[in-house]
Amino acid sequence: MAHRLLRDHEADGWERSDFPIICESCLGDSPYVRMTRAEYDKECKICTRPFTVFRWRPGRDARYKKSEICQTCSKLKNVCQVCLLDLEYGLPVQVRDTALSIDSNDAIPKSDVNREYLAEEHDCKARAGIDYESSYGKARPNDTILKLQRTTPYYKRNRAHFCSFYIRGECTRGAECPYRHEMPVTGELSQQNIKDRYYGVNDPVALKLLGKAGEMSSLEALEDESIKTLYVGGLDARVTEQDLRDNFYAHGEIESIKMVLQRACAFVT
Ligand SMILES: [Zn+2]
Ligand SMILES: [Zn+2]
Ligand SMILES: [Zn+2]
Repeated sequence: MAHRLLRDHEADGWERSDFPIICESCLGDSPYVRMTRAEYDKECKICTRPFTVFRWRPGRDARYKKSEICQTCSKLKNVCQVCLLDLEYGLPVQVRDTALSIDSNDAIPKSDVNREYLAEEHDCKARAGIDYESSYGKARPNDTILKLQRTTPYYKRNRAHFCSFYIRGECTRGAECPYRHEMPVTGELSQQNIKDRYYGVNDPVALKLLGKAGEMSSLEALEDESIKTLYVGGLDARVTEQDLRDNFYAHGEIESIKMVLQRACAFVT
């Protein structure tokens, strides 16, 4: 590492940035976040190139966060530089790619040399104004991902780490202790490898979420019986009112069906 620092930063094409690429959860709920910024401070945990590291505290009771991977790697997978979750859906890469049927692992080389080469090629293209071919922008959201996505930030994830003294019954700092006084729930979910998470393989959190998606496939009955109109979206142009009637008559008497062809949807009462 030391010898690399003697070389010219610009010539290396190392990354400088003014703001991290992060998700809302990692940014925290405070409207004023003070960030420290250190150029070429650490190596990216994926491509190993030095990058600009940001550090901040996402809330009063939160622990400090710092960017772990470089912006190029973050853009290649469309993930947060800190938590490595997808920026759009707040989901692990493995969940997103499975739900959207994206097979992108072949596109990103896993050996260090190739990774560095690819990251540099990406930066060159970006400088030349060539859009990087990312499959994520093209993939349309489907039911599975819409069911699984996280729509509100999850600040709980930023809480302080568990107090190791408390766990052993030895912490004497009481309420002053900056760490969390709770017994951790240990299990496979607490053990995650950053590269596996990035590449979307062997991710225990992903397997758990995907299992949940399978269970959620059946619609739950409405609790409020005064609501009788059902919105049916994403209709194919060939679907007729009779088709809808045939499909819904088994669920009760149909009062009316209003089809909105321009919007490819219908309201069944
Ligand atoms: Zn990187
Ligand atoms: Zn994040
Ligand atoms: Zn403590």
